[in-house]
Amino acid sequence: MTTTGIEFHRPTSLEEALTILRDAGREGIAKAGGTDVMLLLKHEAVRPRVMVGLSALSELKGIRRDKSVIAIGAGTTIAALERDAVLAEHAQGLLDAAHRMATAQIRTVATVGGNLASAAACGDLAPVLIALDATIHLRSAAGERELPLTEFFTGPRTTVLAPDELITRIEFPAAKKRSASSYAKFGYRGGSQIAVVAAAAQVNRDGSVAERVRLVMGAVAPIPFLVKGASVLTGRPVEGAALEAACAAAASECRPISDIRGSEAYRRTISSVVARQALESAWRRSAGHES
Ligand SMILES: Cc1cc2nc3c(=O)[nH]c(=O)nc-3n(C[C@H](O)[C@H](O)[C@H](O)COP(=O)(O)OP(=O)(O)OC[C@H]3O[C@@H](n4cnc5c(N)ncnc54)[C@H](O)[C@@H]3O)c2cc1C
Repeated sequence: MTTTGIEFHRPTSLEEALTILRDAGREGIAKAGGTDVMLLLKHEAVRPRVMVGLSALSELKGIRRDKSVIAIGAGTTIAALERDAVLAEHAQGLLDAAHRMATAQIRTVATVGGNLASAAACGDLAPVLIALDATIHLRSAAGERELPLTEFFTGPRTTVLAPDELITRIEFPAAKKRSASSYAKFGYRGGSQIAVVAAAAQVNRDGSVAERVRLVMGAVAPIPFLVKGASVLTGRPVEGAALEAACAAAASECRPISDIRGSEAYRRTISSVVARQALESAWRRSAGHES
């Protein structure tokens, strides 16, 4: 089918989609929910000859738990994340992010794979998935590869994804007993707009102290990043001077830009506040997580 000069395909198997993308090379592009790519098309930021619609690919959909690993298909919608019982149990931070992303209409069609492949610095899912230690699984007609999500992003709107490759799924370990995640987002209009500052935290608790803490900041650097200084919380309760130090590290390690949504200095100040919200929430939740 051709629309405005673009050859549109809607394959019904992953193999077929990958073959079309291989043959199209740099002239091909995938379309999942279309909430991002159709805007790029409208503004002529992309000019594909071939567009491959992914909505009929059942292989890319769904959330599964296999023993200690949780897998989310790239074609799973944000709305599906919001109502998933496995995620509610093992990745509450992902639910926080899904609830606060865009609007209900967008969430109904927007997908996990589209969110990650877009690689917007303010994308909501990447910080939480990095905090959860996620790996990303990619496939082309030539084969498969997987890599830590931290290695997927190379800059704002750029990734290691080859033109003929698709994201097939994201995987991360199921939450251990007394571990929990959270996501905090500062944005305008109650956060249903894109993030000005975001933070995701994952805490593994050992009694009254944190055994391991991962704090990831979003929207305040070209790509989401793990806050190195949050390691000060290891072996301590997530409170008091150690919590202050971790939040200060979030502010000092970020590299925000100044734009219409906030200056560099403003974003840096808000970073420590949002980091605190994420850490305190994960810490509180870890006390009650018994699975
Ligand atoms: C009004 C509005 C509000 C928004 N608010 C937010 C927000 O609050 N937070 C946020 O994070 N985002 C937001 N977005 C951005 C966007 O909706 C999300 O990033 C969404 O998840 C993109 O998913 P999609 O399925 O629509 O992707 P598409 O638009 O279909 O594709 C986006 C990109 O990903 C590629 N792609 C899609 N699927 C795959 C795959 N499986 N493998 C490889 N490449 C793939 C496409 O080729 C394209 O380059 C907003 C967008 C709009 C229009």
